[in-house]
Amino acid sequence: MALIKCENISIAYEGQTVVHDLSFEVGQADYLCIIGENGSGKSTLVKSLLGLKAPAKGKIILGDGLKQNEIGYLPQQTDVQKDFPASVYEVVLSGRLNSRGFRPFYTATDKEKARENMELLGIQDLERQCFRDLSGGQKQRVLLARALCATKKLLLLDEPVTGLDPIVTQEFYQLINEINKKSGIAVVMVSHDIESTMAYASHILHLQETALFFGSAMDYQRSEIGQAFLRGGEHHA
Ligand code: ADP
Repeated sequence: MALIKCENISIAYEGQTVVHDLSFEVGQADYLCIIGENGSGKSTLVKSLLGLKAPAKGKIILGDGLKQNEIGYLPQQTDVQKDFPASVYEVVLSGRLNSRGFRPFYTATDKEKARENMELLGIQDLERQCFRDLSGGQKQRVLLARALCATKKLLLLDEPVTGLDPIVTQEFYQLINEINKKSGIAVVMVSHDIESTMAYASHILHLQETALFFGSAMDYQRSEIGQAFLRGGEHHA
């Protein structure tokens, strides 16, 4: 059973449709990259997947027991986040907020999860440091640990490597890939980085208001639309 199934969804802002008649699905342990030009509707789709913007038409069906508040989300970096005046531990722990419901305190399980994920991402030594003093790559690891605290099944990442240098970028992609392969957590990633997309993705959704292509990464590489987009890859990087 698919974790997410989008059936003929349309999404609009004040009556203006920006995503139209879009269908695709995300299976367990899939690694789906969403690609497309600026303004093609990628961030809007992410908002709908998170339940922040209801589709005007069609349905988003969550399966395999996935709940909307159990999607581990790593947002695009904003300046506000970069200056967040909290410790690494507090930022990671705040990933448990969604599943906390109305409990006023973090539980022992919440704290255990936070430590587990800090260890998994090799940031346990940074735990007392202030988030805003970290390097870009360390910040992304912290936000990834935070996202992992929120989910067992699905990570949703919106252009996660923007602003990182090439070596740190490659390390970050390898980390995501390891989490996907070892823990079987499905990955949905909005990406501008075509080369890395093709290195890691199992599935591609090429968006241009609707799906120009949805299917396996291998089929995308063989498709006309895929070949045209990949040839122009350097313009989109
Ligand atoms: P992408 O993430 O692929 O760059 P977006 O989802 O941000 O694309 O934008 C898709 C379209 O929706 C664009 O035409 C954009 O101008 C429009 N749009 C995005 N956000 C809003 C908003 N809050 N209000 C009105 N229009 C929006």
